Amino acid sequence: MKLSTVTDRRQSIFDKIMKRVKIDKDTGCWNWTGPTSGTGRGGGYGRMSLDGQTVATHIVMFTNFYGYIPSKKQIDHKCRNRLCCNPDHLEMVTHKQNQKRRAKWNTQNQSCSQEPSS
Ligand SMILES: [Zn+2]
Repeated sequence: MKLSTVTDRRQSIFDKIMKRVKIDKDTGCWNWTGPTSGTGRGGGYGRMSLDGQTVATHIVMFTNFYGYIPSKKQIDHKCRNRLCCNPDHLEMVTHKQNQKRRAKWNTQNQSCSQEPSS
C-alpha cells in the first residue's frame, strides 16, 4: 500500500468523524453527535459504521491518530466524557488501570450517583 493511500484513508475517516462532532470550546471536548451505544451499562459511547462494522468512535479516532491498540489495552477518557473523541483527551491504559481509575473516580463522586452529563 502506498503511503498516500494510507494518509487519504486516515483523512477520510477523520473527516467522517468530524462531520458529526461538536467541539465544546470550554472543555475542548469533541462531542460525538451521532448514534451511541445506548444508556445501559457500557453505554453512552459514540458509535459509527466503518467498512460495514459498528465501532466505537473514540477508538477509531485514537487508532487513526496513534495507531494500533493492543488487545489488552483500553482507551480511557481523561475528561470522563464518553462521547468525546478528542485524541488529546484519550489515553491508552490497561484494563486494570482503567478499573482502578473508575473506582477512584466513583469514590470521589459518592454524593452524586449520576454519571456526569456531557
Ligand atoms: Zn474530552
